[in-house]
Amino acid sequence: MRIFIQIKHLKNQLDIYPDESISGYLFRLSQSNHYHNINYLSKYLCLSFYQAQNNQFHRESLSKLNDLNGGLVNFGLNNGFELEERIGSDLYTKILMRNKVKYCPLCIQDKYYHRTIWMLVPCHLCIEHKVKLVDQCPNCDCFISMAAFINQKCAKCFFEFVETEPIVIGNNIFVESQMQISYGFWNDNFKVIKNCNFVNFLKLAFHSFHLLNGAPDYISLTLENLSIFHNRSKGEKSGFMLATAIANVYWMYNEFPNHFLIVLDNFITRNRGQLNYEKLKAFDELFGVKDFLWVQEAYDAYFINQVDRGKIRRDFSIFKKNPHLLTKRTNVRREEVRQLTGIAYEKLEELSDYQELKLEKILSNGISRYLVEKATLDNYLIERSH
Ligand SMILES: [Zn+2]
Ligand SMILES: [Zn+2]
Repeated sequence: MRIFIQIKHLKNQLDIYPDESISGYLFRLSQSNHYHNINYLSKYLCLSFYQAQNNQFHRESLSKLNDLNGGLVNFGLNNGFELEERIGSDLYTKILMRNKVKYCPLCIQDKYYHRTIWMLVPCHLCIEHKVKLVDQCPNCDCFISMAAFINQKCAKCFFEFVETEPIVIGNNIFVESQMQISYGFWNDNFKVIKNCNFVNFLKLAFHSFHLLNGAPDYISLTLENLSIFHNRSKGEKSGFMLATAIANVYWMYNEFPNHFLIVLDNFITRNRGQLNYEKLKAFDELFGVKDFLWVQEAYDAYFINQVDRGKIRRDFSIFKKNPHLLTKRTNVRREEVRQLTGIAYEKLEELSDYQELKLEKILSNGISRYLVEKATLDNYLIERSH
């Protein structure tokens, strides 16, 4: 049985770095006081090993931890304190890296400690050094625990992490997207893209993955198609793939709506039937929140335009769910006008010649279609009724 622990101060007290994770700090502290592992300190702080390792500290444990260090240490947002409260449980569950760590080979050569930002699965670039973060032992590929990291060598093959060769990433969009999410992580008011702070951007990203999964890598970082939900390469979970997917989301919305429309075009040629419906449904759950009205407008307009141009049919999944969308069309097909109003084709041509309404001929899939501009038709119908 464990003896009740009573410590007032630690012999070797440490200060925390401004951007150091509290977990990393606790492991460092434990090591510098020559404890065999962190169990001794985590028990004292009333934390499970899991909590201590994954930065899940509550106020009481931090106040005890502070006392151990002579009351001189401050823990804040920059150390990942109350991250879950800040970004919400749902996102927190999705993006927090658990029970393993990653690092920047150049940062640890500079000062060896665990940075808070490395806890986030979507962050895969050191924005200071522009090098890829390392999430597996470079020598034997095994995952790296916090204990191994603080010990500075792989628990399996004893590779020394400071010997890691840095890999520079030059892809502009990837680098830019990583910089933006990194700034956004530190500042709630910072806009990662025009309309979104960190939390909203990631919400948007996780929904947009339903459109991007299976799409080409638009930022040309890899030659493969994006495989987001199977997020595994060679059987291992790949945080890098997730970061690549997020860079694609960044690309998709940074030039809005042009790139968004490219993704939708590719999506509807790639997916058919029920599968298509399921994925679109998963994406448009986003529209339950009013923050994303700007996306919804472009999304609805896209499908209205598609039906107007005869590229998709009126019974396309999205219209079944939102039949009111069809009333927003700007064009109505000639056949439908005849059906609804009884105006014959010749009469339509004549009205168009006299500019009473606007009739347009377009080629779609090799077929000529005649479209009547809805607003001009509505005007004409009102005048006719008087
Ligand atoms: Zn670095
Ligand atoms: Zn190793």
